[in-house]
Amino acid sequence: MLIEKYDVEVFTPPCNPGAERYSAKARLTADISEILPYLNATLRGALYLPEAAALTWKKGGHNIAFHAYEIATSNVEDRDGAEKELRGIIDLVNRTWERRAEIIPDHSTRQRPAPMAIYKLLPNTNCKQCGEPTCFSFALKLAVSQKKLADCPSLTEPQYADKLVGLEAIIIEAPAIG
Ligand code: SF4
Repeated sequence: MLIEKYDVEVFTPPCNPGAERYSAKARLTADISEILPYLNATLRGALYLPEAAALTWKKGGHNIAFHAYEIATSNVEDRDGAEKELRGIIDLVNRTWERRAEIIPDHSTRQRPAPMAIYKLLPNTNCKQCGEPTCFSFALKLAVSQKKLADCPSLTEPQYADKLVGLEAIIIEAPAIG
């Protein structure tokens, strides 16, 4: 087992005390950097920065952050839920560690694309069908997973096929439920 001992702290975000959302943090006694490439290979939509030993992943609208000696979750509706989710994530890490021989680790860096890079690949008609006033505001939301490529119906038109291929190459869409 990779993670055997850890302390859990549940709190409301310091920037928003009194918010009806909770964060939870597990401080680990073991360095889990070695498992991050395996999580990068198996968690769809994960963003990985090897040089910082940091990986983030969105699970059902919650942000999960993995660092060498810490795992954190945020934006959970209640205190118990935050702790339960965190313990579930630790189980996931331990299960992934146990079966690492079956997984090809992915050491490549994956980061969020810049909004401008997305914008350049959108149709740029500002047609508003996505519910946004402009293609650029859509790009801003797509970059942080608040919109999906499928929310832009224009991208299915044949003249934008090349742009869609480019977008699919740079957009990492998080699953609704991890
Ligand atoms: S639907 Fe697509 S083309 Fe229209 S405004 Fe939104 S992003 Fe731009």
